[in-house]
Amino acid sequence: MKNYPEVPILPTTVIGSYPRPKWLKETIQLAKMGKISKADLEEAFNDAVVDVMRDHQLAGIDIPTDGEMRRDEMVEFFAENLKGFTFYGFVRVWGDAYYRKPSVVSKIEYKKPMLENEVRFAQSVSYTSNLKVTITGPYTIADWSFNEYYKTKEDLVFDLAKIINQELRNLVKMGIPFVQVDEPALPTHEEEIPWAVQAINEAIKGIDVKVGLHICYGDYAKVMPFAEEMKVDQLALEFKNRDFKDLNLLKKFGYTKEIGLGVVDVHSSEVESPEEVAKGIKKALQVLEPEKIYVNPDCGLKRLSRRVAYQKLVSVVEGTKMVREELKKKGLSTIQLKPIVNR
Ligand SMILES: [Zn+2]
Repeated sequence: MKNYPEVPILPTTVIGSYPRPKWLKETIQLAKMGKISKADLEEAFNDAVVDVMRDHQLAGIDIPTDGEMRRDEMVEFFAENLKGFTFYGFVRVWGDAYYRKPSVVSKIEYKKPMLENEVRFAQSVSYTSNLKVTITGPYTIADWSFNEYYKTKEDLVFDLAKIINQELRNLVKMGIPFVQVDEPALPTHEEEIPWAVQAINEAIKGIDVKVGLHICYGDYAKVMPFAEEMKVDQLALEFKNRDFKDLNLLKKFGYTKEIGLGVVDVHSSEVESPEEVAKGIKKALQVLEPEKIYVNPDCGLKRLSRRVAYQKLVSVVEGTKMVREELKKKGLSTIQLKPIVNR
């Protein structure tokens, strides 16, 4: 029997990314211009992870990440590390945001563990062994790439699923108790959801630690009918910037798994108060048991200023503590960080 860690009830966590310190952005620029060595850049990434961990620790987050300091972008990072992808250049995604869109030009193959080094470093400087590691899901990697090799998008997604599974198994071996698959693209093509869900299940097959699935943007009503079929333990969703209205969807679809409850908006620099956070959690408690709620920001914090991101984390923690006080009176104080679905 595996020994699962104990965490406070309503564990606080993050979705993944955190703002890169200003000096790290400048260091990355210098590295691109060839003005500093690879080793110096690596040292800067490591130092940034130490800073980010410290912010999470000071805020009081139970299950931190390393802030994804090494990842410029969530698809590009994995495409760069897999055989089968090439990059032609930048495409415009919205406004004046540009994205280096990868293209699949041959069979996707696993070259080497992609996250091992960053995870090992995070573990070596973390204040807790309860680390969460995020990985972009097979559907989103495919959806945000050009497919110039596979006959169908479905074939590509299932090949990617096998690779993500290999990577996740590696993370489990390293002792990571919580992995999160990020699939922001999932709700965007409704007709593809049924097989995309099967591909996600393939990607998490045999993973016997907590598995979350994060979806942002899009209409959750399109995904909810598949919630039971998805073999994840938890859906981490944005609720705050939708005014918690989607809690009704959980009720409507008789949702029984856990949620990662987004309680602060990552698109607004206004910092929510702890009271506001507590109010959001109480709304969720009307539709789900307290044991099934994890508390986190709506999405990654990378686009906020570091100061605002930190303050939002403090509110997440302080607001959660308020609700915990009330749960304590009912004898609820801790839960185990463990899977609830057999994969
Ligand atoms: Zn997100």
